Amino acid sequence: MSWASDYLDEARAAIVGAGSLQDLEQLRVGYLGRKSPLTLRLREAAQLEIEERAELNRTKIHLEDLVKTARRELERVAIERVYADSAVDVTLPGDPVPRGRLHLLTQIRREIEDIFLGMGYEVFEGDEVVDAWSNFDALTTDAGHPSRSQNDTFYLSEDVLLRTHTSPDQIRLMEARTPPIYAIMPGRVYRRDTPDATHSPTFLQVEALVVDRGITLADLKGTVLHFFRQLFGPAREVRMRTSFFPFTEPSVEFDVTCFICDAQGCPVCKHSGWIEMGGAGWVDPDVFRNVGVDPDEWSGFAFGLGIERIAMLRHGLPDLRLFWENDLRVLEQF
Ligand SMILES: [Zn+2]
Repeated sequence: MSWASDYLDEARAAIVGAGSLQDLEQLRVGYLGRKSPLTLRLREAAQLEIEERAELNRTKIHLEDLVKTARRELERVAIERVYADSAVDVTLPGDPVPRGRLHLLTQIRREIEDIFLGMGYEVFEGDEVVDAWSNFDALTTDAGHPSRSQNDTFYLSEDVLLRTHTSPDQIRLMEARTPPIYAIMPGRVYRRDTPDATHSPTFLQVEALVVDRGITLADLKGTVLHFFRQLFGPAREVRMRTSFFPFTEPSVEFDVTCFICDAQGCPVCKHSGWIEMGGAGWVDPDVFRNVGVDPDEWSGFAFGLGIERIAMLRHGLPDLRLFWENDLRVLEQF
């Protein structure tokens, strides 16, 4: 055995056993570097036999090949480890993506729209910013009426305001169309109210308007009854009580039999078996004249409801403010 073959055996064993690229580099410097025994011995080559010099050179080339092969293998292992660490396990369950939902008031509004669309009505959406004429004058709410006061109404200028009810939509619609008209007008309205459990400066109304020939009070009652039976169940009954609104003559308020106790009496209906649901009436002939509809030819009715009130009654919600606070613990229940 020559010096060179012993050197090669020792170096090969060390190189094959190298655990990392750093270790391999240290071994390369140790066995092949400028101060390695092999290099030092080659420097003396001039004094060596040709045979021995050739063997040392072969050993050097052999060791360089071994280092190259070992480096490639260590690099391959390192890359595989990086891949393994960053790999995605497609069998793991993903992070849940929260699903949105429609706000309860939007759900009820759409339910109401569906019931009226089923009766052949159209859904008309008016503007929230209106002039005083369509919000008050055209509906025969004359100057001096308390609802026109700055204490009750949000004015944007002397003559422009945030609508206090959806009734200006009736005016817009009758101005734009020739009867017959069968329409509902849902939307947001504004009043100067301090928020509490039953008051809010903004809330949702839906108003219905029918203008046709030969409309009678029975049509109003039948429509309201059908609507509430769709909304609250087929056992519901409706009653009307006389009332007053400036733009209807005669005017009524209507109640529906309590759908919580089935009219047996409970706290919600104040043990009367009836729940107040809204106002209605015959369109005042003066309103028709204001929008150019001939009251001798046409007659009609209008009625209005509060969408929050329906939501509160149906779900037993105690406070109007819950709808606007956007508390997910509340909203996610519906
Ligand atoms: Zn009841």
